[in-house]
Amino acid sequence: MPPITTTIDGVRVHAINCGFVQVKRSHRSPSLGAPIILLDPFWTEWLPIWVWVIEHPEGVIVIDTGENQRVTEPHYFDCGGADGWVTKHILRFRIQEQLEIGPQLKALGIPPDAVRWVVLTHLHIDHTDGLRYFPRAEILVSRNEYEQPYGSVPCTFPGWFNPRRIEGGYAHNQFGKAYPLTTDGRVIIVPTHGHSHGHQSVIFRGATVDLFFAGDTTFTEQQLLEHQVAGICIDKAAARRTLGAIRSYCQERPTIYLPTHDAQSAERLKNGRIVRTHLMTTLR
Ligand SMILES: [Zn+2]
Repeated sequence: MPPITTTIDGVRVHAINCGFVQVKRSHRSPSLGAPIILLDPFWTEWLPIWVWVIEHPEGVIVIDTGENQRVTEPHYFDCGGADGWVTKHILRFRIQEQLEIGPQLKALGIPPDAVRWVVLTHLHIDHTDGLRYFPRAEILVSRNEYEQPYGSVPCTFPGWFNPRRIEGGYAHNQFGKAYPLTTDGRVIIVPTHGHSHGHQSVIFRGATVDLFFAGDTTFTEQQLLEHQVAGICIDKAAARRTLGAIRSYCQERPTIYLPTHDAQSAERLKNGRIVRTHLMTTLR
């Protein structure tokens, strides 16, 4: 699938599909957690792995880095110990080299070396496995995520990986704090903990509509509307609070919600479809 591009307030934004992943059905839906998921024989359909690119005037921003083709090799996870073993058994991948973020950026006329910032929502493999294309970019991870990774496979990170660990920021109504990435204040990073200890999301604040690059806060927009926490997350209470914060944000500002694995994310971006807050079911 070719990248989908839209322009908001003069800024080009691209949705790039960097491969596909299957998870267990009990991983996507509310469930009893990791042991059940390992035993679950049922897989979801193939889900996209979206990488987002913002051609901001202060520099190109890449949000997450997708997968790489080597993940389909049988021994790719062998270096990862228990977390590698679990990852290998609860995820399946489909990707060819031309779908990796490097070649796709080049095809858009953006050399990876020209990327200024790479923001990682968290350190799961399908978000970090394109890092090798960005040795010259400034990479940002939350300090919590870096210091307490959950379910990540660090042996797959490039040897030079030494991201800026961000924390703090200005006080924010819904998220407690917000970290300004660009000096114009239009791109901010907010904590969205729960899926992992230091999960974070990126918001582009437009004149009439905001883009919420959600990472893995939910698999789909529908889960946000239903306030439904997925089957795997390190802290279910935090994940529920995070969904409450995002829902409240969407009620305050017209927002297009863009999870990494939602098959409809890019289409909503292209069509400018904001979260229909009147469809939100009551808090559970
Ligand atoms: Zn994840």
